Amino acid sequence: MASPTPRHWADKCADLLLAERGNGPFLIASGISPSGKIHVGNLREVLTADIIHRVLSERGVQSRLIFVADDYDPLRKVYPFLDAAVYAKHIGAPLSAIPCPCGGHKSYAQHFLEPFFASLRTLKIAAEPVLASELYASGALLEQTLIALKQRDAIAEILNRVTGKEIEPGWSPFMALCSSCGSMARTAVTGWSETDRTITYTCATCAIEKTAPIVGAGKLTWRVDWPARWAALRVGIEPFGKDHGGKGGSYDTGKEIVAKLFDWQAPFPVIYEWIRLKGLGDMSSSKGNVVSVDEVLDVIPPDVLRYFITRPEPKASLALDPVAQMLNLVDEVDDETKKQRDARSVELSQAGGFVPIGIPFNHLINVWQVAQGSLDTAKTILARTGYHWSSDDALAQRCRYAANWLERFAPDEYKFSLAQTLPESAKQFDAAQKKLAALVADRLAALPKAAAEDIHRVLYEVATENGIGMGDLCRLFYQALIGKDRGPRAGWFAEIIGVDFVCTRLREAAA
Ligand SMILES: [Zn+2]
Ligand SMILES: [Zn+2]
Repeated sequence: MASPTPRHWADKCADLLLAERGNGPFLIASGISPSGKIHVGNLREVLTADIIHRVLSERGVQSRLIFVADDYDPLRKVYPFLDAAVYAKHIGAPLSAIPCPCGGHKSYAQHFLEPFFASLRTLKIAAEPVLASELYASGALLEQTLIALKQRDAIAEILNRVTGKEIEPGWSPFMALCSSCGSMARTAVTGWSETDRTITYTCATCAIEKTAPIVGAGKLTWRVDWPARWAALRVGIEPFGKDHGGKGGSYDTGKEIVAKLFDWQAPFPVIYEWIRLKGLGDMSSSKGNVVSVDEVLDVIPPDVLRYFITRPEPKASLALDPVAQMLNLVDEVDDETKKQRDARSVELSQAGGFVPIGIPFNHLINVWQVAQGSLDTAKTILARTGYHWSSDDALAQRCRYAANWLERFAPDEYKFSLAQTLPESAKQFDAAQKKLAALVADRLAALPKAAAEDIHRVLYEVATENGIGMGDLCRLFYQALIGKDRGPRAGWFAEIIGVDFVCTRLREAAA
């Protein structure tokens, strides 16, 4: 008896959630600090939230999805991708109040958020954006801020006990924003008033002491900010990275702080693993080994990017390989007969508008190169190589992905350009090579039909009969056609180019 398909992680997650937390409605939160390029690794969080949101909707459970951008966080340091001459003076200032690196956006934070929000729309992730800067400015966190200031010692005790780290005597749960220099880097809270709702702080840079309304004068530190947000917004579910989820991590401390001080329960946790970039480790903006979400959406359809993240459990490690894996993923989503295809993941990956075309992506990439950017030529080749497609628009769109993939990610061995005339290297063939070229041409010309397998068989037979390796014969074949030692699989390649063309070219080389 065939074993039943294992239940998708998102279905299991929803089962657990509903058993533990009742029937909703639920607020699902996700978020990020927009301190640098927002990459595919960052996408795992909001997409995990979106998948749970979809599963709950299927079951008729009410839920809302928000994406909190921590744009009120201070700039921590001058990252390697920033100009030190411009950004050193902004350390400690909120990301929402720093100039953008390109000059085209409202702020540093918006510079990174805007393309990301556009990608979320493309991916049909229905997350409502919430800006932390606006959350603080609106006073939404004032109640929790006052409690945190009042209960400073209780929070310090929790942080110390759960993390094992010493909390300094001058520590405050509030980071004051100096109104003179606009930075939180060198300020210290010296007092506060519950009745006036003011904070008193000093700034070492400006050598001042000042009293100002709490709203607009800074924010809670991360470990207090997070539980304060859970309580103020009434967050019920939140995926977060393994750094926050470890023992003594900010979820552990937040869980206790929110229950004891803010009278709310920590959200149902969904911990996810980082996404690595193949061969380059965990993606990290400050390390620079990142592929941004919009870059990936230029080369594969949104459904395919969703599928990449939807298929494995959030806790499973995931590596993005923009070469072989990306080609396979497109086929897995496109082709229902693929063995490794996960139907439930495909279902949860729909971003609207994906039309299967039934053409392997790798084949399309080769066809596109032979067609040299002409959609009509590509169609002629596809028809000749036995493919039929349901929609011209879908095919045209897939060709654009192929073109972009070739431009952005294709390694040299995937790229070729069909030489318009006999390449120089093929003009140097010796007598033995010329004889082989002529022999292959004669045999190919004699084929009743020239499908890839038949062409491959001819090459194999000629190689064997003449006592040379298949590799050597193929090298001769590629030299005549593209002037390189390697190329796409010879049989398939010849089928795409057309046997007539191949024969003519080989005879030229043999002359
Ligand atoms: Zn910009
Ligand atoms: Zn100052």
